[in-house]
Amino acid sequence: MSLHQAIDLNRDLPGVSATQVNFHPPTGISCLVVGAGVGGLMTALECRRKGHSVRVVERSPAPSTAGDFFSIGRNIIAHFYNHWPDLAAECERINYPSLVAYHTITGERVSGPEALRIGEPSMTLNDGSQKIIPFHRHHRPKFVAALLAQVKHLGIDVAFGAKVTDYFEDSDRQKAGIVLHNGERIEADVVVAADGIGTKSNKLVNGGDTRAYSSGMSIFRTSFPVELALSDPEIRDRWPLLDGDVPCLEIWGGYSDIICWLMTHKSDGKGIESWNQTVDVSRVLQITSKIPGFPEVAERLIKTTPKNGIVDWDIMWRDPRENWVSPAGRVVQVGDSAHTFLPSSGSGATQALEDAISLATCLEIGGKSNVPIATKIHNKLRFERVSCVQLSGFMNHQKQSNPVYAADSEDGPSFKVSLGNWMVMYNSEKYTYVHYGEVLNHLLSGRPFKAQNIPPGYTYKPWTIKELMAKVERGEQLRFGGDWS
Ligand SMILES: Cc1cc2nc3c(=O)[nH]c(=O)nc-3n(C[C@H](O)[C@H](O)[C@H](O)COP(=O)(O)OP(=O)(O)OC[C@H]3O[C@@H](n4cnc5c(N)ncnc54)[C@H](O)[C@@H]3O)c2cc1C
Repeated sequence: MSLHQAIDLNRDLPGVSATQVNFHPPTGISCLVVGAGVGGLMTALECRRKGHSVRVVERSPAPSTAGDFFSIGRNIIAHFYNHWPDLAAECERINYPSLVAYHTITGERVSGPEALRIGEPSMTLNDGSQKIIPFHRHHRPKFVAALLAQVKHLGIDVAFGAKVTDYFEDSDRQKAGIVLHNGERIEADVVVAADGIGTKSNKLVNGGDTRAYSSGMSIFRTSFPVELALSDPEIRDRWPLLDGDVPCLEIWGGYSDIICWLMTHKSDGKGIESWNQTVDVSRVLQITSKIPGFPEVAERLIKTTPKNGIVDWDIMWRDPRENWVSPAGRVVQVGDSAHTFLPSSGSGATQALEDAISLATCLEIGGKSNVPIATKIHNKLRFERVSCVQLSGFMNHQKQSNPVYAADSEDGPSFKVSLGNWMVMYNSEKYTYVHYGEVLNHLLSGRPFKAQNIPPGYTYKPWTIKELMAKVERGEQLRFGGDWS
């Protein structure tokens, strides 16, 4: 099986109908979405549901099957149950529910396997019913294919092979637009830059790119058909499925049809932020050979990875950037183009999906004549929350880089990844409906607005990576007040 086979739009997409979706009346707002990743496709779906007309352009010639796994917040699955029931069913079908066990770098089990408890097990849906939604861990290519299937089912135009080179806006004509690699210009009432980390929209939105600092760490990542690994009996014995055929996600300090392994290591400056450039397995083995006691069976597992299967992603820090909207308010960034996350945050995809819901709702409330203020309100509603999620990812990164297995700190076991209740028990659409007016008042008359989608009791303070690193170097605890659990 080829690792990076393109998805055939006519053959491989799952069947996802929209018979149970309630579409809002047309708003007359035209949206042009750049990027058919998680954030872009969800923006297209939510814009369509809210009555805006929408089209998508994507630079890849075809949907990409690159990438391995990410977590999707249970609040997003609850949103699918509320508004996209077929998509919810597809997500349950393709989910890889797993238990988690923590290990030392030499493979000794420290805790687990146990369910990853994040928030209450049961979510309240919009009709008042309670729904138990498990932790969702998705294979990115399959999750993107599910979103794309829903988009295609609605007849939303997705142009592949359309690389955007520039963004522009014209406040007099109340239009924004993009320039494609072939010089073609396309305009709309609002352009959504969902083109990821290397977005071309920063020049217009912020006058230039956000500075990225090397974290000094890089991460090898891969996923491939599990039969390749299980053909070795020692590997099969070491990593059996748990009772009920449940896979175990093992996190080593410091199942079913696809196996995924990730390894954070000191950066040698050769990794880059790309899902398409791969490294040879020998690079990984050079590192593991220097770890005293690193189990031979783990090296055997690494060796089963197919050629061109390992990405070496350089982990970069970026300070939170408060502004995601162009001066005239007609180009707005969502997902990674607005904010990037460390792998330890487990939240990059979820925050992109929450952005999409918030933006489409703001445009719906504002209406065609208020697009510029609606995008700014969306930005204000989202920024502090996203910045707190980024901060929580930094805290997880520190825990994982220097795991202390013996003592539990006040914040719980000091080696366990934590995602707060405040992150998961959250309804992005409802929050937008409730607080849109307050933010409008805040922007127009300066009336104070206090975000309520951040850790309870915490008063937001801007932060930078440099300040955090200095705290870590001074040996200070990363504590910020409020309840982050
Ligand atoms: C191929 C790929 C594989 C990934 N694999 C993983 C993974 O295994 N685990 C994980 O945690 N995260 C992965 N990510 C990142 C993860 O999807 C994002 O962090 C998160 O979901 C936020 O999504 P996004 O839509 O903002 O950005 P992305 O998912 O990065 O999507 C951006 C989209 O914009 C397109 N694009 C970029 N530039 C242009 C341009 N100039 N013109 C037109 N289109 C453009 C890209 O091709 C891409 O489809 C992957 C991203 C990509 C693109």
